[in-house]
Amino acid sequence: MNLILLGAPGSGKGTYSNILTKEFNFIHISTGDIVRNNIDNQTEFGFKAKKYSEEGILVPNSLIIVMVEDYLKNQINKKNKDIVWDGFPRTIEQVIQLEKLLRKINNKVDLVVYLYLPKKELIERIKHRVVCTKCKASFNLKLKPPKKSGYCDFDNGLLFKRKDDTEEKLIIRLKEFENQTVPLIKYYKEKNNLIVIDEKNTNINNVLKKIKDFKRNDHN
Ligand code: AMP
Repeated sequence: MNLILLGAPGSGKGTYSNILTKEFNFIHISTGDIVRNNIDNQTEFGFKAKKYSEEGILVPNSLIIVMVEDYLKNQINKKNKDIVWDGFPRTIEQVIQLEKLLRKINNKVDLVVYLYLPKKELIERIKHRVVCTKCKASFNLKLKPPKKSGYCDFDNGLLFKRKDDTEEKLIIRLKEFENQTVPLIKYYKEKNNLIVIDEKNTNINNVLKKIKDFKRNDHN
């Protein structure tokens, strides 16, 4: 099963990915993490992506698609087919390329979950967000601080502030989301495989049940 998480920065894609990985054993592919790992490891991809990513701009399609293909080749045991895609696709071109990529391994996009949050709340979340260097769990220094300051509750990893998690960069990232990613919502809605999670529909159990039902049918 391939499940895509769509949402603006700060909408909770990482948190939902962690829940899905724990509940259903999904493989979690976060293109943001792939980009940051490449930058930290000073790979050729990382070198090319750095200037975009740190400014809050989307990395060019051609580059991100090669990064995803490369990651899939090296990391994924094809027997474990259930993937949660976090932050990819983010443009219509990426939608087309992902469909092509999945077709090659007899797979398709099964479900798309759109996490909606009002802009004011996104800004509040990002402003106070810190992330674990090890497990990537995020904490909010105002609303959900870690028990021990500076360290992750789950694995004691060091917490860090992302370079692009500033109000200034967030404005650019939100514009990118509006211009490039919002059209995907309409696209998947028309394909009838979109679930929206918003403030009125925050019951995560309903969503988990839908995914469970889907997986049950998928494997029958
Ligand atoms: P994220 O952690 O998902 O917020 O991604 C951090 C940054 O990585 C983004 O602002 C982009 O510069 C880059 N990035 C991640 N995913 C993509 C993508 N699918 N397409 C283009 N750039 C991406």
